[in-house]
Amino acid sequence: MASRTPLMAGNWKMNLNHQEAVVLVQKLAWTLSDKHHDFAKAEVAVIPPFTDLRSVQTLVDGDKLQIKYGAQDVSTHDSGAYTGEISAGMLAKLGCSYVVVGHSERRQYHAESDAEVHAKAQKTVEAGMTPIVCVGEGLEVRKEGRQVEFTLEQVDGSLGDFTPEQVAALVIAYEPVWAIGTGEVATPDDAQEVCAAIRARVAERWGEAAGESVRVLYGGSVKAGNIAGIMAKRDVDGALVGGASLEADEFGGVCRFY
Ligand code: PEP
Repeated sequence: MASRTPLMAGNWKMNLNHQEAVVLVQKLAWTLSDKHHDFAKAEVAVIPPFTDLRSVQTLVDGDKLQIKYGAQDVSTHDSGAYTGEISAGMLAKLGCSYVVVGHSERRQYHAESDAEVHAKAQKTVEAGMTPIVCVGEGLEVRKEGRQVEFTLEQVDGSLGDFTPEQVAALVIAYEPVWAIGTGEVATPDDAQEVCAAIRARVAERWGEAAGESVRVLYGGSVKAGNIAGIMAKRDVDGALVGGASLEADEFGGVCRFY
């Protein structure tokens, strides 16, 4: 069985200016070093707004931190007359390791389709970064008990024509929309059910090796106090964390789930 290093990624959303970003990353680095966090047990990444990336890069490089960072979105275009957009090349040049694509807030407020999410993931891969591809059902779908079917459809559409090698290297985040920012956490068994189904679908479409290697995260009201139960599930390889990632101690606690 392939060994998958857990990933704890903190999505700051539209919070924190570049000075606040530096303070938070410094505090997080201090918390993790004080508690002797083992980065081999959980990789740690922060996902700040675009405007904070340069400051985070300077801090991470200058202090040789093991914390990685990434962006919350990316353009489907390489360059040109696309006012307000940021290309994958620009993000790679800033040292980003990850790009979140298809977050439910982008799907909901910007009507992003699976095809667009795939195009963004493709640009991310081409630029040498790792996409964190977000999928997950809303409350109505969950009530109807169609969470697996719905989420797997998003997986198929968002991963599109990626090769088995590309799929093996990427990160999929299962985020039930009803659990994002609501304090409503899916139970560890709920998370396991869909994360396992995602891995099985990857294995079926892209091969066993891809299924064993792809990292599947859970996201939705994760905190230091509930992460251990979620991480105990065999198909959950980490978490995409929103609100709790804005507090160094809280996010540090999530990273040190073991
Ligand atoms: C998210 O934004 O991806 C998320 C999971 O948010 P929260 O942890 O606040 O629910």
